Amino acid sequence: MAANTFGFIGLGNMGAPMCANLVAAGFDLRVFDAAGTASRAPDGTAVGDSIADLAATTDTIFLSLPDGAITRAVCEDILAAVDRRVSRVVDFSTTGPEAARDVGAMLDAAGIRFVDAPVSGGRAGAVAGSLTVIASGPGADIEDLAGAFDAVGGNTFHVGDAPGQAQAVKLLNNFLSATAMAATSEAVLFGRKFGVDISTILDCVNVSSGRNTASADKFPNRVVTGTYDAGFATALMTKDVALYLEQVRVAGTPDAIGSVVSARWNAALDAMPGSDFTEIYRHIAGETQTGE
Ligand code: NAD
Repeated sequence: MAANTFGFIGLGNMGAPMCANLVAAGFDLRVFDAAGTASRAPDGTAVGDSIADLAATTDTIFLSLPDGAITRAVCEDILAAVDRRVSRVVDFSTTGPEAARDVGAMLDAAGIRFVDAPVSGGRAGAVAGSLTVIASGPGADIEDLAGAFDAVGGNTFHVGDAPGQAQAVKLLNNFLSATAMAATSEAVLFGRKFGVDISTILDCVNVSSGRNTASADKFPNRVVTGTYDAGFATALMTKDVALYLEQVRVAGTPDAIGSVVSARWNAALDAMPGSDFTEIYRHIAGETQTGE
């Protein structure tokens, strides 16, 4: 099980600070990003040339990539690498259960173990090293990875032994977060219409029964400030809610609220393609036009 050299692919909003925390905890990391590694590689990491380079020089590769299609493509490149050394892939990305199962099976067929390990806590949690790691896969690997998971997060949950189970929990979590953000936007607009100050509304809700992650964190820290800088793209949240709804329909569980919330996020993405997800407040307030 000893797997002591590590690679990390995807140095974006989440990946770069996660790497910095792994390095601070003493992990030896070789990193790669398709959009340019040198400018994104945190101090103390070794700059890799390619996915094949990491596959040939490291035992465990962590991924933090935008979606399931990209995770699949990166794993195909790992499998195609000449002189492959890697024996384990750990995916921190949100890809959905189907992609996790496919990638797990593809890697397993080549003798590479796979841990499905999406994270929650946003860029702020990635910077602080306080993410929640939701993991499914072989128990021995998840135990062996405890040090790495502790370096990036405050809580690790081993939710099952099969790839896809962790993605299911991650998707339902993000559905709840997306619902809170959209519902809090509508609720705040309602209160403001009565002439009540937004901070007063939030202060009241946050010590009352309506408190949620949007009212307690996103609104006071990203909306009221006008900064809209949670570091999580509307495109990624919309992807997560769409994946959730798709999988709810496959599972045959109730989808009434999921349908409404997904439509809300699709409309926000159409109107604000490059936005931070906290900007859905501006969209719901009617401050954005399609194509903006
Ligand atoms: P991001 O777009 O900021 O980063 C993704 C990185 O992957 C980019 O730097 C991109 O250049 C790189 N990349 C894309 N294709 C690649 C390829 N083929 N090879 C190598 N590198 C490639 O996204 P993010 O916000 O860091 O999110 C990463 C994942 O984590 C997503 O699945 C997202 O849903 C999930 N997530 C994000 C947050 C958040 O708050 N940002 C929170 C929890 C989970």
